[in-house]
Amino acid sequence: MGAHAGIVVTGTEVLTGRVTDRNGPWLAEALRQLGVDVAHVLVVGDRLADLRSALLFLAGTGVDLVITSGGLGPTADDLTTEVVGDVQGRPSVLDPELERRIHAIVTGLMSRRGWHLHPEATAAGVRKQAMVPAGAAVLEPIGTAPGLVVPVAEGRSGPPVLVLPGPPAELQGMWPAALADPAVHQALHRRTEIRQQTLRLWNTPESELAATLRHLEPGLGGLEITTCLRGGELEVVTRYGPAEQPAYDALAAAMQRAYGQALFSPDGRTVDDIVADALQQRHLTIATAESCTGGLLAGRLTDRAGASGWVQGGLVVYSDMAKRDLAGVPAELLERVGAVSAEVALALAEEARSRLGADVGVGITGIAGPGGGSQDKPVGLVHLCVVGPSGRLPKRVELPGSRDDVRARSVTLAMHMLRELLTG
Ligand code: ATP
Ligand code: MG
Repeated sequence: MGAHAGIVVTGTEVLTGRVTDRNGPWLAEALRQLGVDVAHVLVVGDRLADLRSALLFLAGTGVDLVITSGGLGPTADDLTTEVVGDVQGRPSVLDPELERRIHAIVTGLMSRRGWHLHPEATAAGVRKQAMVPAGAAVLEPIGTAPGLVVPVAEGRSGPPVLVLPGPPAELQGMWPAALADPAVHQALHRRTEIRQQTLRLWNTPESELAATLRHLEPGLGGLEITTCLRGGELEVVTRYGPAEQPAYDALAAAMQRAYGQALFSPDGRTVDDIVADALQQRHLTIATAESCTGGLLAGRLTDRAGASGWVQGGLVVYSDMAKRDLAGVPAELLERVGAVSAEVALALAEEARSRLGADVGVGITGIAGPGGGSQDKPVGLVHLCVVGPSGRLPKRVELPGSRDDVRARSVTLAMHMLRELLTG
């Protein structure tokens, strides 16, 4: 039995989806790297009763450590410290030294920002943030809020609670200090190495993968395999202990035999990594001309730091006029075959390449919908073309789903066409 942790993410903004949770996933991965499995991630709003029941639930599951994020600010809706102290049987008391340190941080911050708050209001906020459950360890603030390690009161049983701030940069900045705390260290003493490997498949139906895995079943004993279909890519993530390494190696080899080229990433690298590395290694540059994807491909190609080493630029040519005037697509061609056509996709790829002086060009034109489709050119019809020193690759697809889906899938498809052209 290895070590397990439970996480409570607090914040009504996270509960309602206005802010996407970044702390649960970050903590889960940081814990996995340490060899700690995460049993639950609970999201609760800024409500006393809900936070309380989440903490009690996790304590009841027998996890070794509970971690909370958020709710440490000076305002009334920040109530994590109070509730954690209550659940752990340790009422909060003012820590005057901590109060002085937070006061210095807050006044420094206010003068740098040119804010003039009422001194009494500031003092009240600072005092609230300096309330510490009796017997808890304080983790020095990264922003203004201190973190806490709150063991359960003597004579009671339950896991310690590690209290961390909500802003992701503050939570991540406090993590090393949290791990160095003796009570956290002790709580996680049963941790064991957890390995994680990712295989990525392209153009493979999930049902086919399910059949393959069923066939391999007897040998997969200690492997925890999860598969996830994402925009046409099938991601197979396997978690296992060191003793299971031979079983994983056998799985990876069997997958290689079963899927060959469709297993485009045996080592977890993304298609973005593969394309960027191929361009860089071969000293090639790239340029794009996009219609229905409106620059999303150029955005994705430039996501990586250092992209200026291989990306020349991109044209967003949404209207026919832009296709003609910016990308030099002949008006006669647009008139004759229409903007959404194999000919125009090719012209866009060629023109992007020549106008921006790149080695590789990509053209995308299609009907993202929901309107604008017709009998012979339905919504979801997309023509793509990639051209490079070793030839060209055209593709016509009819993609299902919403406008967002069609646009996102087109970009992923273009990335895979680039991968094929550059490495195939
Ligand atoms: P503060 O002192 O800033 O009030 P806090 O610990 O009370 O710190 P919160 O008030 O809960 O933190 O959150 C502050 C901000 O941090 C939120 O407005 C949100 O933008 C961001 N944040 C909080 N929790 C998360 C989360 N789980 N994922 C992403 N962002 C978050
Ligand atoms: Mg909050």
